[in-house]
Amino acid sequence: MQPIIQPVRQKERLLEDFIERYVTCLHLQETHVMQQILQKYEEIINCFSETACEEEDLLKAFESLAKTKIQSGIPYIAMSNEIFGLKNLLLQNGIESSELRRLLELFYKINNRVARIYLDDYLKRLKHINNIRITSLNDLPALNIVHYFKEHLVWLNELVAYIDAPEENRLPELDESSCIFGRWLDKDAKELLANNSKLETLSTLHKTLHLFAKKIGQILPNKEYHLVISYLEKCELISLNIGTELVLVDNAQINQKVTKDALTGALNRHALKAIFETQYELAMATQSSFILAMCDLDHFKRINDTYGHVAGDEVLKLFVRVVKKNIRNSDVIIRYGGEEFVIMMPAIPLEKAVSIFEKILKEFADSDVVYNGKKVGTTASVGLLEVCPSMSYGSSLLNDYLLLADKRMYRAKQEGRNRVVY
Ligand code: GH3
Ligand code: MG
Ligand code: MG
Repeated sequence: MQPIIQPVRQKERLLEDFIERYVTCLHLQETHVMQQILQKYEEIINCFSETACEEEDLLKAFESLAKTKIQSGIPYIAMSNEIFGLKNLLLQNGIESSELRRLLELFYKINNRVARIYLDDYLKRLKHINNIRITSLNDLPALNIVHYFKEHLVWLNELVAYIDAPEENRLPELDESSCIFGRWLDKDAKELLANNSKLETLSTLHKTLHLFAKKIGQILPNKEYHLVISYLEKCELISLNIGTELVLVDNAQINQKVTKDALTGALNRHALKAIFETQYELAMATQSSFILAMCDLDHFKRINDTYGHVAGDEVLKLFVRVVKKNIRNSDVIIRYGGEEFVIMMPAIPLEKAVSIFEKILKEFADSDVVYNGKKVGTTASVGLLEVCPSMSYGSSLLNDYLLLADKRMYRAKQEGRNRVVY
C-alpha cells in the first residue's frame, strides 16, 4: 500500500499541527493518559506515512485509542472531531488524486470502528443506569402515573437490547399509539390532563422518541454506528424529559391527595418523609435534582405577643398564600412546625428556585394582614439546598438534608433575617 503522507518529513509538522488544533485532552487530569493518547496518535501518523502499514493495523490503532478515550471519559463527539481533523489535515497536506478515494474510504471505516466501540460502551452504561432508574421507581410507595414513565424505560431497554444484538432481539413497539405509554396518552391521560398544556408536551416528546427509534431501526442494518449513537442519545434524553413531565403531574396529584394542615392549607408534616422519599426516587429515575427549602417566619413570637395569637394565625395563612401564589402546582409546601415550612420543588435549576424565593420573601415582607384595625406583618428566612440523588441512599438522608437546610436557615437569621441562604 502506498503511504498516504509523502514525503515522510512532513509527518512531524503534521503531528504538531494536529495536536494543537484538534486533540481534546487538555481537560485530562492525568498526564500519563494524555501521554498515552499523544503517543497513539504519533503511531497512527507514522503508520499513514509508511509503506508497510496495513489498513487493519490502522483500524486497530484507532480502536485502542477509542478505548483509552472512553476510559478517560472523553465523549464520542470529541473523538469524532479529532478523526475529522486528522482527515482534513491529511487532505490539506496534499494527496495524489488516485489516493483520494482510498483515504476517504479508509476514514469511513475508521469512523465506523470507533463509533462501534463507543456504541458498545454506551449500550452497556445505558442498560445499567436504566435498570437503576427502573429500580428507583419500583421502590416508590405508590407508582401513580410515573408507572407509564417506567414502561417507557422498559421499552428503552428493549431498544438497547435490539441494538446490541439485532439477530437475537426484536425492536420494541415502534408505533407511538400502540405502546403502553401511547395507549395511556390516547385514553386516560386525555381525561387526567384535560385543559393542561402537559398533554401536548408529552405527546410531542413521545412522538419524537418513537421517530428516533424508527430511524435506529432503519439505519442499524447499514451499520451507521455514529448515527445510532446520536439517535440513541436523543432517545435517552427524551425518555428522561417525559419522566420529568410526569413527575410534575404526579406531584400535583400528591398535593391534592395528602391531608392538609387545617390552619394554613399546607400539607401535614406526617407526609414529609414519604414525599421526600418520592422526590428522591423520582429525581434518581429522571436524573434530575430537586430543591429543598426550610422557611421560618422572623420574630414571630413578637407578633403573638403584640397582637395576639389569632393575628399570628392570620400571618401564617398569609405566608402560605404568598408561597403558593409563586410556586408551581407541582411544588410542595409542608407545615413542618409552628411557623416553619418545608418546600420541595422538583426539576428546577437552583438559580431559578433562589429567585422564586427572593420574590416570595419580598412579597411577604411587603404585605400584611389587617387585624383589629392594625396592619400586622413580618418577614421570613430561608435555607435552601439542591438535592442531587446518588446511589448511596441511606435512611438518615432526609434528616441530613433537613439539618443542612436548617443550618442555612439559621445563617439567614444570623445574617439579618428576610433572606435566602443557599
Ligand atoms: P426567629 O426570627 O428567630 O425565628 O424568632 P421567632 O420569634 O419567630 O422564633 P421562636 O421560635 O422563638 O417563636 C416561634 C413562635 O411561633 C412561638 C410560638 O408560640 C409561635 N407559634 C407556633 N405555632 C403557632 C401557631 O399555630 N399560631 C400562632 N399564632 N403562633 C404559633
Ligand atoms: Mg421557628
Ligand atoms: Mg421564627
